[in-house]
Amino acid sequence: GTEAPPEPGPSAGTPRPQPAEEEEDDDGDEDFQFLLCEGCGQDCAHPRLLSCLHTLCPACLSDTKQCPLCQAAAGAPAVDNLLFSNLRGRLQVWRQIRSSRGPDCSRCRTEAALVWCSDCEEFFCARCFEEHQWWHKKKEHRFRRVEELRAGSVQQFLEDTKTSCSLFCSSPSHPGESRVCSIYCPRCERALCCPCALLDTAHAPFRDLRAETHRRQDELCSLRRDLRRLRGSFEAALGRLRGEAARQEEQRERLRERVLASCERLQQLVRREAEELQALLEARPERGRSALAEELRDAEGSLLRLEAAERLVERLGRYGGEQELMDMQPFVKAALLDLQRLRPPQAPELREPPHFALCRARLRAL
Ligand SMILES: [Zn+2]
Ligand SMILES: [Zn+2]
Ligand SMILES: [Zn+2]
Ligand SMILES: [Zn+2]
Ligand SMILES: [Zn+2]
Ligand SMILES: [Zn+2]
Repeated sequence: GTEAPPEPGPSAGTPRPQPAEEEEDDDGDEDFQFLLCEGCGQDCAHPRLLSCLHTLCPACLSDTKQCPLCQAAAGAPAVDNLLFSNLRGRLQVWRQIRSSRGPDCSRCRTEAALVWCSDCEEFFCARCFEEHQWWHKKKEHRFRRVEELRAGSVQQFLEDTKTSCSLFCSSPSHPGESRVCSIYCPRCERALCCPCALLDTAHAPFRDLRAETHRRQDELCSLRRDLRRLRGSFEAALGRLRGEAARQEEQRERLRERVLASCERLQQLVRREAEELQALLEARPERGRSALAEELRDAEGSLLRLEAAERLVERLGRYGGEQELMDMQPFVKAALLDLQRLRPPQAPELREPPHFALCRARLRAL
């Protein structure tokens, strides 16, 4: 089953309409900051694309076993990010076009450029462009006047240069001669030029290269749609996890507040207890002390009375006559009987004030 190779499609195809879904996050990217290394933010001529699809400059990539952005372990070896390096190159051309004095001729490097050949990707002055047209008269390179490009927008320039990036046949059968590919061989997974496809029957059946690029783009788009759904569920799960983390943090905060509050309460309790105990020790001893002093006074008084009684009885015996004895005996006897009722105070260690014990008990309870 050999199929005739399809006719080469027009080299400048109409841009395919993007699905409506894709348009919502079209932020324009007008400053092209995304071309800078995602690690160090530096401009980089040969950015590398990691298997996690982050882009890093070779310096950032040199000593890392995992992506510094998402911590994904290095899977497949990194590849050149051709999209970024080519886009960077096209933007540099654009900056030359928009520079104040305009670009110089890439060939003679003295004259101001008049024309940009998008196939050669070079600027040419009028004289060099004449020669260029002579050399490439069979090929019809697409060229634009620099003035015209200057007047346009960067988006327009990038759109134009996007369609001009042709794929060249890499077959060894025609080295040195670059032929634009229009055929795709699914068996080799390779793009071919029309003559190569016709000459080598081993390549059949073919696909139109444009159809193949569209198929690949559609495949990526549908994968992207699936991944977008996956991202949605990841975001939901992440939201739940963050909610849980926030709840835990809130609980921790509440517990911390409770600990602080009860600590505060306990401190107040202890302080109040200490104040009460101090008050107990200060206030009650006033009475206790005076009671003891009274007792002391009483005991001293009793002792003096006992001594006085002894002395009086002794003197009465020694110096008193019958007259004195008869007159005074009843009174003295009554006084002595009165004195007999006196009891010495108890030993002090047995008579600790009751509030001392209370104070001790409360201290132990603390
Ligand atoms: Zn970097
Ligand atoms: Zn990464
Ligand atoms: Zn020139
Ligand atoms: Zn050219
Ligand atoms: Zn070829
Ligand atoms: Zn093939």
